[in-house]
Amino acid sequence: MRYLTLFSCMFGILLCSCYTSTKKELTSYMPPSFDSYFEPLEGEYATPEHKETNAWELEERDISYIDKKKKLVAFSFDDTPSSALENILAVFTAFNEQNPDCIATASLFINGGLIDDNSLPLLYTANILGFELANHTHSHLDITTLSQTKLQAEIDRTDELLKIVDGHTRHLLRAPFGKIDQRVKSLCPAPVINWTIDTLDWTKIDETAIYDSVMSSLFSGAIVLMHDGYPATIEALKRLLPDLKAQGYQVVSVSALAKAHNISLKVGSEYIRLRKKEEVKPLP
Ligand SMILES: [Zn+2]
Repeated sequence: MRYLTLFSCMFGILLCSCYTSTKKELTSYMPPSFDSYFEPLEGEYATPEHKETNAWELEERDISYIDKKKKLVAFSFDDTPSSALENILAVFTAFNEQNPDCIATASLFINGGLIDDNSLPLLYTANILGFELANHTHSHLDITTLSQTKLQAEIDRTDELLKIVDGHTRHLLRAPFGKIDQRVKSLCPAPVINWTIDTLDWTKIDETAIYDSVMSSLFSGAIVLMHDGYPATIEALKRLLPDLKAQGYQVVSVSALAKAHNISLKVGSEYIRLRKKEEVKPLP
C-alpha cells in the first residue's frame, strides 16, 4: 500500500509537467466580516443529537514537528486543488528543506468537484508532506440555501474522496463563502473553520498586499485564509514563511494548531481562531 501511495505521488509529479488547468471558475464572493471576538461555548452550537458525539478526535494527529515554544499560526488554502497547488507545495517543500527546525504545513480546504485524475496525485503528495486535507464541499454552493439532503451530500461526497487519500472519515469543514447559519452547524458532521485574517488574495491584489495583510494583524492562534490558484499568493508565501520564522512563528495546519494549543474542537462549532485558553480575553 505504501509503495502504491509513493507510486501515485511520483506519477502525479510526472503528470504535473503537462498539467492543464481544469479548475472550474468559482463565483467571486465577498466573505463575511467578523466584528466580534468569537469564542465557541461548550455545547452552544450542538444540536441534541450532537450532544453525545460532538467531540472531535485529534489524538492521532502528529504534531511532533511543532515547537510549542514558538508562536503558531495556521495557514489555510481554499478552492483547492487547482493547477497552482503544485506551486504551493513546492514553496513549502523548499522552505522546509532549508528550515528543518521550523517545518511548515497548512490545511487545504478542498472542493471535491475540482478533484480529477491530474489533481488527485497532488493530494496524495500533500498528505505525505504533512498537509491537512479538509472539506470545502463538493460544488462550492451557498450551503445555507440547500435542503438537508443536498447539504449533507455536498459534505459527504468530498469526505469520501478525501478518505481515499488520507484514511480519515471526516474532515474539518469550511463552508463556501464562509456562509453558515445555525441549521448548517447543527447538520455539520465536523467543526466549522472560518478565519482570523482574510488575505483577500482572490481579489487579485498583489503579493505585497497579501503579505502585509498577514504581517499586520497576526497573533499566535490566528487562522489565515488564502486561496489556491493565484500567482500573487505563491509569491507572498515565499516571503511569508521565512519572515514569520524570523518573528518566532511556526506555520501549521488548523488541526495541528488546535492540538498544540490544547483546544478541543467540537462538531458543529465554529472557530475563527485557536488561541491558548489562558490567552483568550473575555468579551468586552
Ligand atoms: Zn471557496
